[in-house]
Amino acid sequence: MDSMPSDQTYRPVSFWLDTVPDPLAPGEVLPGDLAVDVAIAGAGLTGLWTAYYLATAQPGLRVAVCEAQIAGFGASGRNGGWCSALFPASLGKLSRMAGRDAAVAMYRAMQATVDEVGRVTAAENIDCHWAKGGTVQLARSATQLERARAEVAEMREYGFAEDDLALLTETEARARVGATSVLGGTYTPHCAAIHPARLVRGLARVVRERGVKLFERTPVTQIAPHTLRTTRGTVTADYVIRATEGYTPALPGLHRAVVPVYSLMIATEPLPDSTWDQIGLAGRPTFGDGRHLLIYGQRTADGRLAFGGRGAPYHLGSAVRPSFDRVPAVFGALRQTLGELFPAVNGAAITHTWGGPLGIPRDWCASAGLDRDTGLGWAGGYVGDGVATTNLAGRTLADLILGTGSDLTRLPWVNHRSPQWETEPLRWLGINAGLRTMGWADRAEARTGRSSRAAQVMGRFLGG
Ligand SMILES: Cc1cc2nc3c(=O)[nH]c(=O)nc-3n(C[C@H](O)[C@H](O)[C@H](O)COP(=O)(O)OP(=O)(O)OC[C@H]3O[C@@H](n4cnc5c(N)ncnc54)[C@H](O)[C@@H]3O)c2cc1C
Repeated sequence: MDSMPSDQTYRPVSFWLDTVPDPLAPGEVLPGDLAVDVAIAGAGLTGLWTAYYLATAQPGLRVAVCEAQIAGFGASGRNGGWCSALFPASLGKLSRMAGRDAAVAMYRAMQATVDEVGRVTAAENIDCHWAKGGTVQLARSATQLERARAEVAEMREYGFAEDDLALLTETEARARVGATSVLGGTYTPHCAAIHPARLVRGLARVVRERGVKLFERTPVTQIAPHTLRTTRGTVTADYVIRATEGYTPALPGLHRAVVPVYSLMIATEPLPDSTWDQIGLAGRPTFGDGRHLLIYGQRTADGRLAFGGRGAPYHLGSAVRPSFDRVPAVFGALRQTLGELFPAVNGAAITHTWGGPLGIPRDWCASAGLDRDTGLGWAGGYVGDGVATTNLAGRTLADLILGTGSDLTRLPWVNHRSPQWETEPLRWLGINAGLRTMGWADRAEARTGRSSRAAQVMGRFLGG
Protein backbone atom coordinates (compact mmCIF):
# COMPACT_ATOMS: atom_id res chain seq x y z
CA MET A 1 0.00 0.00 0.00
CA ASP A 2 1.40 3.50 -0.86
CA SER A 3 2.18 6.07 1.81
CA MET A 4 -0.62 8.48 0.77
CA PRO A 5 -3.65 6.21 0.51
CA SER A 6 -6.72 7.56 -1.25
CA ASP A 7 -10.24 6.43 -2.02
CA GLN A 8 -8.80 4.32 -4.87
CA THR A 9 -6.40 2.47 -2.53
CA TYR A 10 -9.27 0.65 -0.86
CA ARG A 11 -11.79 0.15 -3.72
CA PRO A 12 -10.07 -3.02 -5.04
CA VAL A 13 -10.22 -4.73 -1.62
CA SER A 14 -13.70 -6.19 -2.32
CA PHE A 15 -16.74 -5.84 -4.55
CA TRP A 16 -18.49 -4.25 -1.57
CA LEU A 17 -15.86 -1.58 -0.92
CA ASP A 18 -15.74 -0.94 -4.67
CA THR A 19 -19.47 -0.21 -4.76
CA VAL A 20 -19.97 1.66 -1.49
CA PRO A 21 -21.21 5.20 -2.27
CA ASP A 22 -19.26 6.98 0.53
CA PRO A 23 -15.68 8.13 -0.03
CA LEU A 24 -13.03 5.73 1.29
CA ALA A 25 -10.14 8.14 1.80
CA PRO A 26 -8.81 7.63 5.35
CA GLY A 27 -9.96 10.05 8.03
CA GLU A 28 -8.03 11.60 10.89
CA VAL A 29 -5.01 9.75 12.38
CA LEU A 30 -4.35 9.69 16.13
CA PRO A 31 -2.66 13.08 16.65
CA GLY A 32 -0.60 11.96 19.70
CA ASP A 33 -1.11 10.63 23.22
CA LEU A 34 -4.70 10.65 24.41
CA ALA A 35 -6.71 9.74 27.54
CA VAL A 36 -10.27 8.43 27.10
CA ASP A 37 -12.77 6.24 28.96
CA VAL A 38 -12.82 3.38 26.43
CA ALA A 39 -10.20 2.63 23.75
CA ILE A 40 -10.93 0.10 20.99
CA ALA A 41 -8.43 -1.59 18.63
CA GLY A 42 -10.00 -2.26 15.22
CA ALA A 43 -12.82 -0.55 13.31
CA GLY A 44 -14.64 -3.54 11.92
CA LEU A 45 -18.17 -4.33 13.02
CA THR A 46 -17.04 -5.51 16.49
CA GLY A 47 -15.25 -2.26 17.31
CA LEU A 48 -17.91 -0.04 15.75
CA TRP A 49 -20.95 -1.78 17.27
CA THR A 50 -19.24 -1.55 20.68
CA ALA A 51 -18.60 2.16 20.16
CA TYR A 52 -22.18 2.65 18.91
CA TYR A 53 -23.87 1.10 21.94
CA LEU A 54 -21.53 2.85 24.38
CA ALA A 55 -22.09 6.25 22.77
CA THR A 56 -25.84 5.63 22.62
CA ALA A 57 -26.17 4.51 26.25
CA GLN A 58 -23.89 7.20 27.67
CA PRO A 59 -23.43 10.15 25.31
CA GLY A 60 -20.74 11.85 27.43
CA LEU A 61 -18.43 8.82 27.46
CA ARG A 62 -15.09 9.39 25.71
CA VAL A 63 -14.60 6.53 23.22
CA ALA A 64 -11.66 6.23 20.79
CA VAL A 65 -11.26 3.60 18.04
CA CYS A 66 -7.83 3.03 16.49
CA GLU A 67 -7.86 1.33 13.08
CA ALA A 68 -4.76 0.25 11.14
CA GLN A 69 -6.26 1.06 7.71
CA ILE A 70 -9.82 2.37 7.26
CA ALA A 71 -13.10 1.37 8.93
CA GLY A 72 -14.34 -1.80 7.23
CA PHE A 73 -10.96 -2.76 5.78
CA GLY A 74 -11.10 -6.25 7.36
CA ALA A 75 -13.64 -9.06 7.06
CA SER A 76 -16.49 -6.63 7.82
CA GLY A 77 -16.02 -4.94 4.44
CA ARG A 78 -15.46 -8.16 2.49
CA ASN A 79 -17.90 -10.84 3.69
CA GLY A 80 -20.76 -12.72 2.08
CA GLY A 81 -23.37 -10.38 3.55
CA TRP A 82 -25.29 -13.04 5.46
CA CYS A 83 -26.62 -11.24 8.52
CA SER A 84 -27.63 -14.54 10.07
CA ALA A 85 -28.48 -16.13 13.41
CA LEU A 86 -25.75 -18.72 12.87
CA PHE A 87 -23.41 -19.21 15.83
CA PRO A 88 -20.23 -21.25 15.29
CA ALA A 89 -20.65 -23.52 18.36
CA SER A 90 -23.48 -26.06 18.07
CA LEU A 91 -26.36 -26.33 20.53
CA GLY A 92 -24.83 -29.59 21.76
CA LYS A 93 -21.47 -27.96 22.45
CA LEU A 94 -23.03 -24.95 24.21
CA SER A 95 -25.20 -27.30 26.21
CA ARG A 96 -22.17 -29.27 27.38
CA MET A 97 -20.41 -25.99 28.24
CA ALA A 98 -23.22 -24.25 30.11
CA GLY A 99 -26.42 -26.33 30.12
CA ARG A 100 -29.40 -26.70 27.86
CA ASP A 101 -31.21 -23.46 28.80
CA ALA A 102 -28.08 -21.40 28.22
CA ALA A 103 -27.59 -23.01 24.81
CA VAL A 104 -31.17 -22.20 23.81
CA ALA A 105 -30.82 -18.64 25.17
CA MET A 106 -27.69 -18.13 23.02
CA TYR A 107 -29.48 -19.23 19.85
CA ARG A 108 -32.56 -17.13 20.66
CA ALA A 109 -30.32 -14.10 21.31
CA MET A 110 -28.75 -14.60 17.87
CA GLN A 111 -32.18 -14.66 16.23
CA ALA A 112 -33.13 -11.42 17.98
CA THR A 113 -29.79 -9.91 16.93
CA VAL A 114 -30.66 -10.22 13.23
CA ASP A 115 -33.71 -8.03 13.87
CA GLU A 116 -31.68 -5.62 16.02
CA VAL A 117 -29.31 -5.00 13.09
CA GLY A 118 -32.35 -4.35 10.88
CA ARG A 119 -33.84 -2.00 13.47
CA VAL A 120 -30.67 0.07 13.95
CA THR A 121 -29.85 0.35 10.27
CA ALA A 122 -33.38 1.61 9.57
CA ALA A 123 -33.32 4.01 12.53
CA GLU A 124 -29.88 5.40 11.61
CA ASN A 125 -30.52 5.63 7.86
CA ILE A 126 -27.82 3.12 6.98
CA ASP A 127 -28.96 1.80 3.59
CA CYS A 128 -27.29 -1.62 3.58
CA HIS A 129 -29.69 -3.16 1.03
CA TRP A 130 -31.36 -5.10 3.85
CA ALA A 131 -33.54 -8.01 2.62
CA LYS A 132 -34.64 -10.48 5.28
CA GLY A 133 -35.27 -13.37 2.93
CA GLY A 134 -33.90 -16.14 5.19
CA THR A 135 -31.43 -18.85 4.17
CA VAL A 136 -31.91 -21.93 2.02
CA GLN A 137 -29.34 -24.68 2.56
CA LEU A 138 -29.69 -27.08 -0.34
CA ALA A 139 -29.17 -30.81 -0.04
CA ARG A 140 -27.65 -31.92 -3.34
CA SER A 141 -26.75 -35.53 -2.47
CA ALA A 142 -28.16 -38.28 -0.27
CA THR A 143 -25.51 -37.61 2.41
CA GLN A 144 -26.29 -33.88 2.42
CA LEU A 145 -29.98 -34.73 2.84
CA GLU A 146 -29.10 -36.99 5.77
CA ARG A 147 -27.20 -34.10 7.41
CA ALA A 148 -30.09 -31.70 6.76
CA ARG A 149 -32.52 -34.09 8.50
CA ALA A 150 -30.12 -34.50 11.44
CA GLU A 151 -29.77 -30.73 11.81
CA VAL A 152 -33.54 -30.21 11.87
CA ALA A 153 -33.90 -33.08 14.38
CA GLU A 154 -31.30 -31.48 16.68
CA MET A 155 -33.12 -28.13 16.53
CA ARG A 156 -36.41 -29.85 17.42
CA GLU A 157 -34.78 -31.56 20.43
CA TYR A 158 -33.96 -28.10 21.77
CA GLY A 159 -37.50 -26.81 21.20
CA PHE A 160 -36.95 -24.88 17.94
CA ALA A 161 -39.95 -25.19 15.66
CA GLU A 162 -40.73 -25.28 11.95
CA ASP A 163 -40.66 -21.47 11.80
CA ASP A 164 -37.04 -21.52 13.04
CA LEU A 165 -35.77 -24.25 10.72
CA ALA A 166 -37.90 -26.22 8.27
CA LEU A 167 -36.99 -29.27 6.23
CA LEU A 168 -37.77 -28.63 2.54
CA THR A 169 -38.92 -31.21 0.03
CA GLU A 170 -37.23 -31.30 -3.34
CA THR A 171 -40.07 -29.26 -4.89
CA GLU A 172 -40.03 -26.67 -2.09
CA ALA A 173 -36.25 -26.25 -2.28
CA ARG A 174 -36.27 -25.95 -6.09
CA ALA A 175 -39.04 -23.36 -5.93
CA ARG A 176 -36.73 -21.12 -3.87
CA VAL A 177 -33.39 -21.86 -5.53
CA GLY A 178 -33.28 -23.12 -9.11
CA ALA A 179 -30.04 -25.08 -8.72
CA THR A 180 -29.07 -28.46 -10.19
CA SER A 181 -29.20 -31.83 -8.36
CA VAL A 182 -31.48 -30.53 -5.60
CA LEU A 183 -32.96 -33.31 -3.44
CA GLY A 184 -34.30 -31.10 -0.63
CA GLY A 185 -32.87 -28.73 1.94
CA THR A 186 -33.61 -26.56 4.93
CA TYR A 187 -35.03 -23.07 5.30
CA THR A 188 -34.63 -20.61 8.15
CA PRO A 189 -36.16 -17.13 8.10
CA HIS A 190 -33.47 -15.81 10.49
CA CYS A 191 -31.13 -14.19 7.97
CA ALA A 192 -30.97 -10.98 5.95
CA ALA A 193 -28.88 -10.43 2.84
CA ILE A 194 -26.97 -7.16 3.15
CA HIS A 195 -24.27 -5.09 1.43
CA PRO A 196 -21.65 -5.38 4.18
CA ALA A 197 -19.51 -2.37 3.28
CA ARG A 198 -22.57 -0.12 3.30
CA LEU A 199 -23.27 -1.42 6.82
CA VAL A 200 -19.77 -0.96 8.25
CA ARG A 201 -19.08 2.38 6.55
CA GLY A 202 -22.54 3.64 7.54
CA LEU A 203 -21.89 2.62 11.12
CA ALA A 204 -18.55 4.47 11.06
CA ARG A 205 -20.40 7.63 9.97
CA VAL A 206 -23.00 7.23 12.73
CA VAL A 207 -20.47 6.69 15.54
CA ARG A 208 -18.51 9.74 14.43
CA GLU A 209 -21.73 11.77 14.54
CA ARG A 210 -22.22 10.53 18.13
CA GLY A 211 -18.84 11.89 19.19
CA VAL A 212 -16.72 8.73 18.97
CA LYS A 213 -13.13 9.49 17.93
CA LEU A 214 -12.35 7.18 15.03
CA PHE A 215 -8.68 7.28 14.08
CA GLU A 216 -7.75 5.59 10.80
CA ARG A 217 -4.25 4.64 9.56
CA THR A 218 -3.37 4.20 13.24
CA PRO A 219 -2.01 0.66 13.77
CA VAL A 220 -2.02 -0.62 17.34
CA THR A 221 1.33 -2.19 18.24
CA GLN A 222 0.46 -3.47 21.71
CA ILE A 223 -2.58 -3.97 23.90
CA ALA A 224 -1.84 -3.76 27.64
CA PRO A 225 -3.90 -3.06 30.78
CA HIS A 226 -5.49 0.39 30.38
CA THR A 227 -3.22 1.10 27.40
CA LEU A 228 -3.31 0.93 23.58
CA ARG A 229 0.12 1.60 22.11
CA THR A 230 -0.01 2.73 18.50
CA THR A 231 2.54 3.93 15.94
CA ARG A 232 1.16 7.44 16.43
CA GLY A 233 0.86 7.73 20.19
CA THR A 234 -0.47 5.96 23.28
CA VAL A 235 -4.11 5.90 24.29
CA THR A 236 -4.81 5.35 27.98
CA ALA A 237 -8.29 4.32 29.08
CA ASP A 238 -10.26 2.65 31.86
CA TYR A 239 -11.21 -0.05 29.38
CA VAL A 240 -9.31 -1.34 26.34
CA ILE A 241 -11.12 -3.55 23.83
CA ARG A 242 -9.52 -5.90 21.30
CA ALA A 243 -11.63 -6.07 18.14
CA THR A 244 -9.02 -7.26 15.63
CA GLU A 245 -10.40 -10.76 14.78
CA GLY A 246 -8.30 -12.50 12.07
CA TYR A 247 -5.47 -9.97 12.49
CA THR A 248 -5.11 -10.66 16.24
CA PRO A 249 -2.14 -13.10 15.97
CA ALA A 250 0.15 -10.23 14.85
CA LEU A 251 -0.26 -8.53 18.25
CA PRO A 252 2.32 -9.29 20.96
CA GLY A 253 1.29 -12.18 23.21
CA LEU A 254 -1.74 -13.10 21.11
CA HIS A 255 -0.28 -15.18 18.29
CA ARG A 256 -2.12 -18.37 19.32
CA ALA A 257 -5.46 -16.79 20.30
CA VAL A 258 -7.24 -17.38 16.94
CA VAL A 259 -6.06 -18.55 13.52
CA PRO A 260 -6.68 -16.46 10.41
CA VAL A 261 -8.34 -18.69 7.82
CA TYR A 262 -9.11 -17.18 4.44
CA SER A 263 -12.47 -17.17 2.76
CA LEU A 264 -12.59 -16.07 -0.89
CA MET A 265 -15.37 -14.64 -3.06
CA ILE A 266 -16.33 -13.82 -6.62
CA ALA A 267 -19.12 -11.60 -8.02
CA THR A 268 -20.75 -11.79 -11.43
CA GLU A 269 -21.87 -8.92 -13.58
CA PRO A 270 -25.56 -8.01 -13.09
CA LEU A 271 -27.59 -10.89 -14.55
CA PRO A 272 -30.57 -10.41 -16.88
CA ASP A 273 -34.13 -11.11 -15.74
CA SER A 274 -34.26 -14.19 -17.97
CA THR A 275 -31.43 -15.74 -15.91
CA TRP A 276 -33.10 -14.79 -12.63
CA ASP A 277 -36.30 -16.47 -13.89
CA GLN A 278 -34.31 -19.73 -13.87
CA ILE A 279 -32.31 -19.16 -10.66
CA GLY A 280 -35.14 -17.83 -8.51
CA LEU A 281 -33.88 -16.48 -5.17
CA ALA A 282 -36.97 -14.25 -5.09
CA GLY A 283 -36.88 -12.20 -1.89
CA ARG A 284 -33.08 -12.61 -1.88
CA PRO A 285 -32.65 -15.58 0.50
CA THR A 286 -28.99 -16.38 1.07
CA PHE A 287 -28.01 -19.88 -0.04
CA GLY A 288 -25.46 -22.67 0.28
CA ASP A 289 -25.42 -26.43 0.21
CA GLY A 290 -24.52 -29.18 2.65
CA ARG A 291 -20.93 -29.85 1.58
CA HIS A 292 -18.15 -29.89 4.19
CA LEU A 293 -15.98 -27.20 2.60
CA LEU A 294 -18.44 -24.36 2.94
CA ILE A 295 -19.92 -22.36 0.05
CA TYR A 296 -22.23 -19.37 0.45
CA GLY A 297 -24.01 -16.96 -1.85
CA GLN A 298 -26.41 -14.09 -2.16
CA ARG A 299 -28.36 -12.32 -4.90
CA THR A 300 -27.20 -8.73 -4.57
CA ALA A 301 -29.55 -5.77 -4.72
CA ASP A 302 -28.13 -4.88 -8.16
CA GLY A 303 -28.82 -8.36 -9.54
CA ARG A 304 -25.45 -10.11 -9.29
CA LEU A 305 -24.47 -13.36 -7.66
CA ALA A 306 -21.87 -12.84 -4.93
CA PHE A 307 -20.49 -16.27 -4.13
CA GLY A 308 -17.78 -17.50 -1.79
CA GLY A 309 -16.15 -20.47 -0.18
CA ARG A 310 -13.33 -21.75 1.98
CA GLY A 311 -10.40 -23.80 0.71
CA ALA A 312 -7.62 -21.20 0.49
CA PRO A 313 -4.56 -22.38 2.45
CA TYR A 314 -3.70 -21.41 6.01
CA HIS A 315 -0.27 -19.72 6.14
CA LEU A 316 2.55 -20.73 8.47
CA GLY A 317 2.79 -18.63 11.65
CA SER A 318 -0.78 -17.31 11.17
CA ALA A 319 0.54 -14.84 8.62
CA VAL A 320 -1.88 -12.34 7.07
CA ARG A 321 -0.87 -10.56 3.84
CA PRO A 322 -2.75 -8.76 1.07
CA SER A 323 -1.45 -11.32 -1.47
CA PHE A 324 -3.23 -14.13 0.44
CA ASP A 325 -6.60 -12.53 -0.45
CA ARG A 326 -6.26 -13.78 -4.01
CA VAL A 327 -5.76 -17.44 -4.92
CA PRO A 328 -6.48 -18.00 -8.65
CA ALA A 329 -7.12 -21.74 -8.15
CA VAL A 330 -9.78 -21.03 -5.50
CA PHE A 331 -11.43 -18.36 -7.68
CA GLY A 332 -11.45 -20.90 -10.54
CA ALA A 333 -13.03 -23.54 -8.29
CA LEU A 334 -15.68 -21.05 -7.12
CA ARG A 335 -16.45 -20.15 -10.74
CA GLN A 336 -16.81 -23.82 -11.60
CA THR A 337 -19.03 -24.59 -8.59
CA LEU A 338 -21.27 -21.62 -9.39
CA GLY A 339 -21.65 -22.91 -12.96
CA GLU A 340 -22.46 -26.41 -11.67
CA LEU A 341 -25.15 -24.97 -9.38
CA PHE A 342 -26.58 -22.59 -11.98
CA PRO A 343 -25.62 -23.50 -15.58
CA ALA A 344 -27.43 -20.34 -16.75
CA VAL A 345 -24.62 -18.28 -15.16
CA ASN A 346 -21.84 -19.97 -17.13
CA GLY A 347 -21.54 -17.23 -19.74
CA ALA A 348 -21.65 -14.36 -17.21
CA ALA A 349 -18.55 -12.27 -16.60
CA ILE A 350 -16.89 -12.34 -13.18
CA THR A 351 -16.29 -8.68 -12.42
CA HIS A 352 -14.73 -8.97 -8.93
CA THR A 353 -12.58 -11.47 -7.01
CA TRP A 354 -11.42 -10.93 -3.44
CA GLY A 355 -10.97 -12.54 -0.04
CA GLY A 356 -10.02 -11.96 3.55
CA PRO A 357 -9.12 -13.54 6.88
CA LEU A 358 -11.67 -14.65 9.45
CA GLY A 359 -10.78 -15.68 13.00
CA ILE A 360 -11.13 -19.25 14.28
CA PRO A 361 -10.64 -20.04 17.97
CA ARG A 362 -9.29 -23.48 18.92
CA ASP A 363 -12.69 -24.72 20.15
CA TRP A 364 -14.71 -22.90 17.45
CA CYS A 365 -16.65 -21.03 20.13
CA ALA A 366 -16.86 -17.25 19.68
CA SER A 367 -16.57 -15.20 22.86
CA ALA A 368 -16.99 -11.68 24.25
CA GLY A 369 -15.62 -10.71 27.63
CA LEU A 370 -14.12 -8.17 29.98
CA ASP A 371 -11.64 -8.44 32.84
CA ARG A 372 -12.61 -5.62 35.17
CA ASP A 373 -9.24 -5.68 37.00
CA THR A 374 -7.08 -5.07 33.95
CA GLY A 375 -9.77 -3.25 31.96
CA LEU A 376 -9.04 -5.58 29.03
CA GLY A 377 -11.97 -6.73 26.93
CA TRP A 378 -12.36 -8.61 23.68
CA ALA A 379 -14.83 -10.10 21.24
CA GLY A 380 -14.27 -12.39 18.29
CA GLY A 381 -13.59 -15.90 17.10
CA TYR A 382 -16.79 -15.81 15.06
CA VAL A 383 -15.41 -18.24 12.43
CA GLY A 384 -17.53 -17.29 9.38
CA ASP A 385 -20.57 -16.05 11.28
CA GLY A 386 -19.66 -12.59 12.49
CA VAL A 387 -21.97 -10.17 10.69
CA ALA A 388 -24.81 -10.38 13.22
CA THR A 389 -22.71 -11.79 16.09
CA THR A 390 -20.59 -8.61 16.18
CA ASN A 391 -23.76 -6.68 17.03
CA LEU A 392 -24.49 -8.99 19.96
CA ALA A 393 -20.83 -8.59 20.98
CA GLY A 394 -21.08 -4.79 20.84
CA ARG A 395 -24.21 -4.70 23.01
CA THR A 396 -22.69 -7.20 25.42
CA LEU A 397 -19.39 -5.35 25.77
CA ALA A 398 -21.25 -2.07 26.31
CA ASP A 399 -23.29 -3.71 29.11
CA LEU A 400 -20.13 -5.21 30.68
CA ILE A 401 -18.26 -1.89 30.54
CA LEU A 402 -21.17 0.14 31.89
CA GLY A 403 -21.88 -2.52 34.54
CA THR A 404 -25.44 -2.94 33.31
CA GLY A 405 -26.48 -6.42 34.44
CA SER A 406 -28.54 -7.82 31.55
CA ASP A 407 -29.69 -11.07 29.98
CA LEU A 408 -26.94 -10.53 27.43
CA THR A 409 -24.11 -10.60 29.97
CA ARG A 410 -25.38 -13.97 31.25
CA LEU A 411 -25.14 -15.71 27.84
CA PRO A 412 -22.73 -18.67 27.76
CA TRP A 413 -20.19 -17.12 25.38
CA VAL A 414 -19.54 -14.24 27.80
CA ASN A 415 -16.07 -14.50 29.36
CA HIS A 416 -15.63 -17.92 27.71
CA ARG A 417 -11.90 -18.58 27.24
CA SER A 418 -10.97 -20.71 24.23
CA PRO A 419 -7.77 -22.73 24.53
CA GLN A 420 -4.70 -21.56 22.61
CA TRP A 421 -3.89 -23.08 19.23
CA GLU A 422 -0.98 -25.50 18.94
CA THR A 423 2.52 -24.17 18.27
CA GLU A 424 3.90 -24.32 14.73
CA PRO A 425 4.40 -26.35 12.62
CA LEU A 426 1.68 -28.53 14.19
CA ARG A 427 -0.89 -25.78 13.67
CA TRP A 428 -0.03 -25.44 9.97
CA LEU A 429 -0.07 -29.21 9.45
CA GLY A 430 -3.37 -29.73 11.28
CA ILE A 431 -5.34 -26.88 9.70
CA ASN A 432 -4.20 -27.52 6.14
CA ALA A 433 -4.80 -31.27 6.56
CA GLY A 434 -8.30 -30.38 7.78
CA LEU A 435 -9.00 -28.12 4.80
CA ARG A 436 -7.75 -30.76 2.36
CA THR A 437 -9.75 -33.53 4.03
CA MET A 438 -12.97 -31.50 3.76
CA GLY A 439 -12.46 -30.96 0.00
CA TRP A 440 -11.49 -34.60 -0.49
CA ALA A 441 -14.50 -35.79 1.54
CA ASP A 442 -16.89 -33.71 -0.59
CA ARG A 443 -15.50 -35.26 -3.76
CA ALA A 444 -15.65 -38.78 -2.25
CA GLU A 445 -19.25 -38.26 -1.07
CA ALA A 446 -20.28 -37.03 -4.52
CA ARG A 447 -18.67 -40.15 -6.07
CA THR A 448 -19.83 -42.84 -3.63
CA GLY A 449 -23.00 -41.33 -2.17
CA ARG A 450 -21.76 -42.37 1.29
CA SER A 451 -20.99 -40.14 4.26
CA SER A 452 -17.25 -39.52 4.72
CA ARG A 453 -15.78 -40.89 7.96
CA ALA A 454 -12.55 -38.94 7.39
CA ALA A 455 -14.47 -35.65 7.38
CA GLN A 456 -16.17 -36.55 10.66
CA VAL A 457 -12.86 -37.42 12.31
CA MET A 458 -11.19 -34.25 11.01
CA GLY A 459 -14.23 -32.18 12.04
CA ARG A 460 -13.81 -33.50 15.58
CA PHE A 461 -10.05 -32.78 15.57
CA LEU A 462 -10.64 -29.21 14.47
CA GLY A 463 -13.45 -28.86 16.99
CA GLY A 464 -16.01 -27.54 14.47
C1 LIG B 1 -14.74 -13.55 2.62
C2 LIG B 1 -15.50 -13.59 3.93
C3 LIG B 1 -16.85 -13.93 3.91
C4 LIG B 1 -17.58 -13.94 5.11
N1 LIG B 1 -18.93 -14.11 5.05
C5 LIG B 1 -19.68 -13.96 6.16
C6 LIG B 1 -21.10 -13.94 6.09
O1 LIG B 1 -21.69 -14.02 5.01
N2 LIG B 1 -21.79 -13.84 7.27
C7 LIG B 1 -21.17 -13.72 8.47
O2 LIG B 1 -21.85 -13.66 9.49
N3 LIG B 1 -19.82 -13.65 8.56
C8 LIG B 1 -19.07 -13.75 7.44
N4 LIG B 1 -17.71 -13.63 7.51
C9 LIG B 1 -17.11 -13.32 8.82
C10 LIG B 1 -17.36 -11.86 9.21
O3 LIG B 1 -17.09 -11.01 8.12
C11 LIG B 1 -16.49 -11.51 10.39
O4 LIG B 1 -16.70 -12.45 11.43
C12 LIG B 1 -16.75 -10.13 10.95
O5 LIG B 1 -16.76 -9.16 9.94
C13 LIG B 1 -15.71 -9.81 12.01
O6 LIG B 1 -15.78 -8.45 12.34
P1 LIG B 1 -14.63 -7.83 13.25
O7 LIG B 1 -14.92 -6.40 13.40
O8 LIG B 1 -14.47 -8.64 14.47
O9 LIG B 1 -13.29 -8.08 12.41
P2 LIG B 1 -12.77 -7.33 11.09
O10 LIG B 1 -13.87 -6.86 10.24
O11 LIG B 1 -11.73 -8.19 10.46
O12 LIG B 1 -12.11 -6.02 11.66
C14 LIG B 1 -10.89 -6.00 12.33
C15 LIG B 1 -10.30 -4.63 12.06
O13 LIG B 1 -9.15 -4.46 12.88
C16 LIG B 1 -8.17 -3.80 12.11
N5 LIG B 1 -6.88 -4.12 12.71
C17 LIG B 1 -6.24 -5.31 12.69
N6 LIG B 1 -5.09 -5.24 13.38
C18 LIG B 1 -5.02 -3.97 13.86
C19 LIG B 1 -4.07 -3.28 14.63
N7 LIG B 1 -2.94 -3.86 15.05
N8 LIG B 1 -4.33 -2.00 14.95
C20 LIG B 1 -5.46 -1.38 14.55
N9 LIG B 1 -6.39 -1.99 13.79
C21 LIG B 1 -6.17 -3.27 13.46
C22 LIG B 1 -8.35 -4.34 10.70
O14 LIG B 1 -7.78 -3.49 9.74
C23 LIG B 1 -9.85 -4.45 10.62
O15 LIG B 1 -10.44 -3.28 10.10
C24 LIG B 1 -16.94 -13.65 6.34
C25 LIG B 1 -15.57 -13.34 6.36
C26 LIG B 1 -14.85 -13.30 5.17
C27 LIG B 1 -13.40 -12.94 5.18
